[in-house]
Amino acid sequence: MLKIFTGVKLIRNILKKAKKNPILDKNDLLQLFKIKYADDFLDLLQTASQVRNSKNNTIKLTSTVHLTNICQITPKCKYCGFAARTSLDGYYDPFFKEDQEILDAVKCVEKSDIPRVSCSGAHGYNGFQAVNAAKIVKENTSLELLVNVGADLNMTTLKELYKYNTDTICCNLETVNKNLFCELKPGEKLKDRIKICRKISNLGIELSSGLLIGLGESYQDRVNHLLFLKKFQNLGEIPIMGFNPYKNTPMEDHPPCPLTEQVKTIAITRLMFPQVRITVPTPTIGPRNIKYSLIAGADNLATVIPEDYPADVKGVGSPSYGNLKDVVGAVHELGLKLES
Ligand code: SF4
Repeated sequence: MLKIFTGVKLIRNILKKAKKNPILDKNDLLQLFKIKYADDFLDLLQTASQVRNSKNNTIKLTSTVHLTNICQITPKCKYCGFAARTSLDGYYDPFFKEDQEILDAVKCVEKSDIPRVSCSGAHGYNGFQAVNAAKIVKENTSLELLVNVGADLNMTTLKELYKYNTDTICCNLETVNKNLFCELKPGEKLKDRIKICRKISNLGIELSSGLLIGLGESYQDRVNHLLFLKKFQNLGEIPIMGFNPYKNTPMEDHPPCPLTEQVKTIAITRLMFPQVRITVPTPTIGPRNIKYSLIAGADNLATVIPEDYPADVKGVGSPSYGNLKDVVGAVHELGLKLES
């Protein structure tokens, strides 16, 4: 009983502090990650929700266009079910979307009243796949645009993306634990991703950079990662993605990231970054669980697909995704408003 009281008291003090000032020290953050008791957990979620609502009480929706699954990274990332031939549950067959297919998809997204689209694709084109998509989106729609081709960018394509008024460029570090990164992404280098994040931020473009959790990283790794993100001046968005195993990949038997870990990480991120957009891609948390991400302080749901979307979509992280109607229902059920 004494132990329970001590735990509750300690966490309450940290949460009280966080409400006034988002600069929590490493030890406080670790204590939050180590929360054991249900009361503490609920307090954490409630505080994170309050912090979000005090800054922004609307929820953004982001749809998606997958540009290509033909990835030149070798060997492939061990969890990847997105690249061609990696998983029978993924896209499996190689594709590279034609301009008209991209246009049809983004027009459909705009018609559905989703305000934002993410155009993402596999590596190997120095960002020209992203520039082409940015040109199509910005010349033909009024959609807000995020592009995500990881570290597959150079200064020329970054400047082109800037020229086309790309609102946000995403390059996820996934984890800042270097050994784990090398183990999971043997075809990439963490330093290349960090370099691209710096360039995006230094160019004055909004940077999105997130965490893939449940891969074997420690709480200390997550704390280090979140503190590392504070270094980027133009950081405007943090995706929190829970790992789900894709069939046929080297990680098919690795357990999925528990929902509680995803929700806890979202809430702690919200306390540390009250003004930053916190994104949860619907495939990574599971379409049925999106309400928990909102309760934890997320304010952007990604990979939201309208009914009449003209292409097949396999989520990055899992083959399922959030259908627009269901996602809108979940937002309204919680009494939250959608950003128009
Ligand atoms: S996760 Fe991205 S970079 Fe890695 S193999 Fe898959 S598509 Fe290529």
